Amino acid sequence: MTLKDKTTVTFYNGLTTIGGPMIEVAYNKSHVLFDLGEVYRPELKLPDESYQTLIKNQLIGDVPNFYDPKITGKPIDTERWEHSAAYISHLHLDHSKVLNLLAPEIPLYAGPITAHLLPALNENGDFLLPAAGHEKNYTRPIIAAEYKKPIKVGDITLEIYPSDHDAYGATGLLVKTPDKQIAYTGDIRLHGYHPDWVRAFMQAAKGSDMLIIEGTGVSWPEEKHDENSEEFTGPKNEVELTEEIMRLQNANPDRQITFNTYPTNVERLLRIISDSPRKVVLHAKRAHLIKDSLNEDYPYYYLPEDKKYSDLNPEFEVSYDELLADNHKYLWQTVSDYDKLQVGGLYIHSNAEPLGDFDPAYKPFVEQFAKNKIEFIALRCSGHADEKELKEIIGGIQPVILVPVHTLHPELEENPFGERILPKRGQTATL
Ligand SMILES: [Zn+2]
Repeated sequence: MTLKDKTTVTFYNGLTTIGGPMIEVAYNKSHVLFDLGEVYRPELKLPDESYQTLIKNQLIGDVPNFYDPKITGKPIDTERWEHSAAYISHLHLDHSKVLNLLAPEIPLYAGPITAHLLPALNENGDFLLPAAGHEKNYTRPIIAAEYKKPIKVGDITLEIYPSDHDAYGATGLLVKTPDKQIAYTGDIRLHGYHPDWVRAFMQAAKGSDMLIIEGTGVSWPEEKHDENSEEFTGPKNEVELTEEIMRLQNANPDRQITFNTYPTNVERLLRIISDSPRKVVLHAKRAHLIKDSLNEDYPYYYLPEDKKYSDLNPEFEVSYDELLADNHKYLWQTVSDYDKLQVGGLYIHSNAEPLGDFDPAYKPFVEQFAKNKIEFIALRCSGHADEKELKEIIGGIQPVILVPVHTLHPELEENPFGERILPKRGQTATL
């Protein structure tokens, strides 16, 4: 066998940062790349988000032969690579933001929900980075993969599995070359709505030659026993979280209750809507996102300055004034004008933006509720496996080689079943 007939895995980015993994698996003349996100580091205060700026600041990987030559100025070596494809695991920006920088001729695969939601999220051009030669709200084609159905990329086969994370439709990936199997978790947890899906993925990935696993949950070892830690306190799982939101409504029958969640955590929102004793009313922008991606109608309202969405059914509209005056009928999503809310009301902040202390906008956001005499309750549930769950996932897969990525402390994930490697940026492992 010649050297080129071996499976290689190159780690371009997202190894000791939270987010932005970019990893290439190659065999002979075929290669695949996953994911296509940008590392989130607002503290850098970058002048722009050009390709050059992102490369220089290591927010994306310097991956040859995948990016659009119109953006890089470097041609793709089509003699060396006859078969190429890319995959994104889920729609969080640290896994998807630069997908428009992928060369247009390279097919991009994702789970069906991710493929349908991304163009809707980017319809104003403020979600993804722009593609060369297109309007800023353009989203390149994303192929909605059928779960578990093999996708051929020359000598390589991809299989996409439904998984569980706080991004709706998150998936995991199996990459099969003629002689090796590599499993990539994407972002993963066992305390969401679908631990059974995660376990089915673990079963399919069992005995993989390499497991590339995220490790967000071991990134803050110093906070493990801190009772104020954002990562380790609050509801233990999504079910407990929705139950708490129901409890708050039942315990406060005569009080204005408002809330907000993160746009891409669609499943949490759907559970809140289905389980709430009060009628849940969404801001029109969110109702439009759900209509656009799932074709489902829910009650909604417009703020006075909002543009109207033609796809929203007028029969579902509730007036903003009625919501402002209500104290028992509605649980509604508030997104601005907090000083108009009723004194003595309750606001539930459930992983909405601003996300937490690391964001300078968070503290003033929380303080304005106290100023207006509204009780602020943060109800979080992590999208990531904790230390114990990571051990269970590794134990279920029992990989020959473990590669922790997407964590500040990759050295804290261990492999009792074989080797563990901690690659440097740009390093290649040959299997
Ligand atoms: Zn994520």
